[in-house]
Amino acid sequence: FGDGDSSKLRSHKEGNFCEYKMVNSINEGAVYPFLQRLVKTPFFRYFKVKLQCDCPHWADDEGMCRIKDCSVCECPDEEFPDVLKPSKLLPQGSVLCRDGPQSSTVVRSMGVASERWVESRDNPWTFDDETQEDGITYVNLLLNPERFTGYGGNSAHRIWNSIYNDYSRTSSKACVDGAEDSERDLESRVLYKLVSGLHSSISIHIAADYLLDEKAGLWGHNDTLLHERVLKHPLRVRNLYFVYLFVLRAVTKAAEYLQSADYETSRSTTREGSARSEMMEFLKNHKTMEICAGLLDEVRLWAAIQGHDSPIRLQKRFQNISSLMDCVGCEKCRLWGKLQILGLATALDINLSNAAKDSAQYNLHLHRNEAIALINLLNRLSESIHHLHQRPSVIG
Ligand code: FAD
Repeated sequence: FGDGDSSKLRSHKEGNFCEYKMVNSINEGAVYPFLQRLVKTPFFRYFKVKLQCDCPHWADDEGMCRIKDCSVCECPDEEFPDVLKPSKLLPQGSVLCRDGPQSSTVVRSMGVASERWVESRDNPWTFDDETQEDGITYVNLLLNPERFTGYGGNSAHRIWNSIYNDYSRTSSKACVDGAEDSERDLESRVLYKLVSGLHSSISIHIAADYLLDEKAGLWGHNDTLLHERVLKHPLRVRNLYFVYLFVLRAVTKAAEYLQSADYETSRSTTREGSARSEMMEFLKNHKTMEICAGLLDEVRLWAAIQGHDSPIRLQKRFQNISSLMDCVGCEKCRLWGKLQILGLATALDINLSNAAKDSAQYNLHLHRNEAIALINLLNRLSESIHHLHQRPSVIG
């Protein structure tokens, strides 16, 4: 998917392209409504994460959030699914979090692995093994939404700059300016587009759920912020569509595996909808999803990366981005940063590490946390596209 045309997403398969409105219509009809239900199922709403970690890059700085809603609160939760039931709960008397518009829930625990997902996995694209049990927390994502937290300033800029400076160090000036692509910069461009698209999505979520009046506790849309940070930069919008289609491509490639996986949590009641039936409903549409996502020619992309650079170096660079998530100074931002980077690492692994293998040779094995991250990341990106689509007056 190239950088040139303003209304179309060109693919690596020559002559093929998708218009934005085609992607929007696929998202509205075949992705967004299904994912909205899927992420609410017990299986997909609990994410395993290490939130207390030292930044491997620099000593703690002043990175703080302005508002109390930025922390992920620790609350015992009797609704926690049996299959993940903690063997060690927090001591009695842990703080019950009722601050902010929605209470937040975390259970600190030792998890129990499911037999049908791999118990641990050496994902070559991640820095931290979030599948390990050490220092692990389970977070109810529905109670900790990604939204405005007031986090920003030097701490946040240092992280974004570290990512983008690494990119610009290894790319030509022309590429940084968004001008014509050169094969030499392929590796850098792929990483840049993925992260920039994710950055756009985070900004869209901040703008969509913004604290408009702290005293009155009033939340709502901040269209000025949406315009300033995303809409007035066409490349940032384009990168959002790129990362969306990249992740959608990974999900459709993994469709067979995801359809036959185990989503048992013992809390999958009819009222909440079971993850298995919601997943089946969602993946029924995989042919529609592939209309645009299938244009990504990852085999050619991977071959080009191998021809011009070392895939191991590309993986190391993504691991470095992943390690920067431990430096995010706001707990809720760190939670969503880690989840989305793990989701992206999983998509990279599905799309690129195995690109050249046909489906018979490619034996996919995922940890349940990788599947949870992948689906929740796709949902976040799908929500961002839905949000842009719903607000044509802002887009102009
Ligand atoms: P920033 O968004 O910090 O951007 C910094 C610079 O990066 C810009 O000046 C611009 O040059 C460049 N840039 C901006 N967008 C793009 C793009 N799409 N592509 C390429 N370059 C770009 N804040 C919250 O309120 N809630 C959250 O959940 C949250 N999660 C975060 C997660 C992570 C991993 C990080 C690092 C930060 C998070 N933040 C969150 C902070 C948020 O992203 C911003 O940093 C903050 O709101 C300050 O914004 P800003 O306008 O200064 O520009």
